[in-house]
Amino acid sequence: MCTFVDSKKVLKMSKRYTITAALPYTNGPIHIGHLAGVYVPADIYARYLRLTGNDVAFICGSDEHGVPITIKAKKEGVSPQDIVDKYHAIIKKSFEDFGISLDNYSRTTAKIHHDTASEFFTTLYEKGEFIEEVTEQLYDEEANQFLADRFVIGTCPKCGNEESYGDQCEACGTSHNATDLINPKSAITGNVPTLKQTKHWFLPLDKHEAFLKEWILEGHKKDWKSNVYGQCKSWIDDGLRPRAVTRDLDWGIPVPLPDAEGKVLYVWFDAPIGYISATKEWAAREGKDWEPYWKDKDTKLVHFIGKDNIVFHCIIFPAMLKAEGSYILPDNVPANEFLNLEGNKLSTSKNWAVWLPEYLEDFPNQQDVLRYALTANAPETKDNDFTWKDFQARNNNELVAIFGNFINRVVVLTDKYYNGIVPEASNFSKIDEETLATVKAYPDVISSSIERYRFREASQELMNLARLGNKYLADEEPWKMIKQDEVRTQTIMFVALQIASALATLSEPFLPFTSDKLKRILNFEKNTWNEVSSKDILIPAGHQIGKAELLFSKIEDETVQFQVDKLLATKKANEAANKTVEPQKEEITFDDFTKLDLRVGTILEAEKMPKAKKLLVLKVDTGIDIRTIVSGIAESFTPEEVIGKKVTVLVNLAPRALRGVESQGMILMTETPEGKLVFVNPDTSTALSTGDANVNNGLHIS
Ligand SMILES: [Zn+2]
Repeated sequence: MCTFVDSKKVLKMSKRYTITAALPYTNGPIHIGHLAGVYVPADIYARYLRLTGNDVAFICGSDEHGVPITIKAKKEGVSPQDIVDKYHAIIKKSFEDFGISLDNYSRTTAKIHHDTASEFFTTLYEKGEFIEEVTEQLYDEEANQFLADRFVIGTCPKCGNEESYGDQCEACGTSHNATDLINPKSAITGNVPTLKQTKHWFLPLDKHEAFLKEWILEGHKKDWKSNVYGQCKSWIDDGLRPRAVTRDLDWGIPVPLPDAEGKVLYVWFDAPIGYISATKEWAAREGKDWEPYWKDKDTKLVHFIGKDNIVFHCIIFPAMLKAEGSYILPDNVPANEFLNLEGNKLSTSKNWAVWLPEYLEDFPNQQDVLRYALTANAPETKDNDFTWKDFQARNNNELVAIFGNFINRVVVLTDKYYNGIVPEASNFSKIDEETLATVKAYPDVISSSIERYRFREASQELMNLARLGNKYLADEEPWKMIKQDEVRTQTIMFVALQIASALATLSEPFLPFTSDKLKRILNFEKNTWNEVSSKDILIPAGHQIGKAELLFSKIEDETVQFQVDKLLATKKANEAANKTVEPQKEEITFDDFTKLDLRVGTILEAEKMPKAKKLLVLKVDTGIDIRTIVSGIAESFTPEEVIGKKVTVLVNLAPRALRGVESQGMILMTETPEGKLVFVNPDTSTALSTGDANVNNGLHIS
C-alpha cells in the first residue's frame, strides 16, 4: 500500500496509522480540559496524516462500565444504561460539533465490544496468562453483594477523615485498600460490611517487567515525551505487581468462565480493548479488514491520552497486547499534562469547568477559536492554565488581527480591483520570490512540529504564515500601488492569493471550520499538504473567487467578563455548599453561663512558640492583671498584627500547659464562612474608644 509522494525531492512513504483518543468516561459531558489534553491534538494529528495521504483509522468511544456509573445511577434512581445512553449521546454530539474527525465513535456497551473483550480474556486465560487468587473482600449481607472500593466509606487510617472512600481518601489523597479503613460502612445500606472470600483473576504484571523495561526504558528513551517516559520509569522502578482483571459487580462484561457468576471484567481491562472493537465496527461498516490496523507491524499505533492514563496505556495495555501475542504495540503515547481553569484544577464535581455544550451556546460557530486557544496554550510539557483573558487575546490579537485580517484584505482587494478574478503575475521581484519560497517551506516546518507531537509550536508556525502574508501586504501596499503601477499590483495580489491558498490548506488540521470557509471563499477544492510545497501555483490566474466573509470576529471585554463572572458564581456556590455549620451543643443553664468571666484585654506582646506552627505566646493586659495566654492563631496572624489588639478573654479558665508554657486563659475567636479566624471583638467605636487598656471592660453579666 505504499505510494510515493514527491515533496521537495524527499520521498515520503504513505503509512497506515491507528490513532486512538482516550475513551471518555460516560458519567458527564466533556469539558475544555478533555479537549485540550486529548481530542484536539489527536484530531490535528489525524487530519494532518489524512492530508499527507496516509491511511488513517481515528478511533474513540464511550467508556461505559465501572463503579462510578452504577453509583450515579443509584443516586438518580435510574439504570446504569440510562446514564450511559444519556452521556454517550451528549459526548458524541460534542465531538461532532467541535470537528473531531473520528472515523468511529463507538461504546463499550456495544455487543461487538462485549464479544471482543470476552474473546481477549479467554485467549489470555487459555494461554495461562492469569493467576487465580482467593481473597477476602468486604461484603454487604443486606444488599447481598460484594462492595467495590467506592462503595465502602470509613475513616482514613492516615488523616482521620471519616468520609474516606475505600480506594482513596479525598482529604489527604492517600490510596489504600477498602479493608484498611477504620469503621468501614457500606455506602449502599450503611451497614458494617463483613469479610467474605471471593476468587479473582490477576494479570501478573511482574512477569512482564523485563519486557517493559527493554521496550520502554531502552526502546523509547528518545522518542517518548519526557513526562511519559518519566512516569513509566517510576512505575517500573517501583516494581510491578499482579493486578486483578475481574471484580464482583453486576455492571460490565461478564467474566466468560463457568465459575464466575456475579463477576465482570474490571473496567480498566475492558476499556482499552474498546479501541480494538471500535476499529472492528468501523472496518465492518467500511468493508475493510480491521486486522492490519492492529496486527501489521508496519502500522503505527498512537494513543492520545491525558497524564492520568499513562500507566494504563504504556504499561498495562501493552502487557495485555504482548501476552495475547498477535497485536502490535503503541509506537508512541504522547500524553499531555493537565489544563487548569483560571488558576484552579478542573473539576466535574465542583462544576469548575467550561463544558462544551455550554461554550457553544455562548459562542455559537466559534469552535475554531476554542480549538486554537487550547492548542496555542496546550499543556504539552507541564500543567497549563486556561484563562478567558488569554482566550480573548488569542482571538483578537491572532485570529482576528493576523489571520482574519490578511484573508479579508486579499479577498476584498481582489474583488474590488479584479471583480474577484485572480490576476496574471508578471515579473516577480526578489521579495516576491523569497516570499513564495518561504510559503513552500511551511508544510515541512509545520509537519516537523506535528510529527514530534508539538502541536503548540505547529499552531504558532501556522500563524507565522499568516503573519508573513500580512507583512507582505503591508510592505508592498497594493492599495497605493494601484494608483501608480497596475501591472505590479496584479503581481502583488497574485502572490498574496497564493499565501491565502496555502493557509486554506495548512490550517485544516487546526481550524477545520475556518479552512472550509476559506476554501469556499477562494472557490477551490484544496491542495494536498505536499502540493503546497511542490506546486508553483496554488491558485491560478483567471480563477474566480467569491466574496469576502468574516472568518473571525472580535470578542469584547464584556463577553469574557460574563464568563469570568459565571465562574465566580460557581466558586461562591461551592463555598456555600462546603460551609459546615457546627451543630448546636447541649443546652446549658443561665447559671452555667454566668460561670464564665469574660473580659476585654489588650495584647501587649506576641511571639511565635518555637517549633509549633499554630501557636502564639501572648502577654495580655486583662485589666486585673497581665498574664500569659497561648493561642492557636499563628496560622492566621503574625505576632506584629496582633500586638495592640483588643480581645475578649475568658479569664477564669483553669490554667493549662501548652508545650511547657502555662496558658492562663483563652482568647475568644470565631471563624468566617471562608474558614478565616477572626477575633470576637468588643465594639471599639463605643465602649473602648478611649483605648485605655487598664479600664476593666469585662463583659459582665447582669
Ligand atoms: Zn486521608
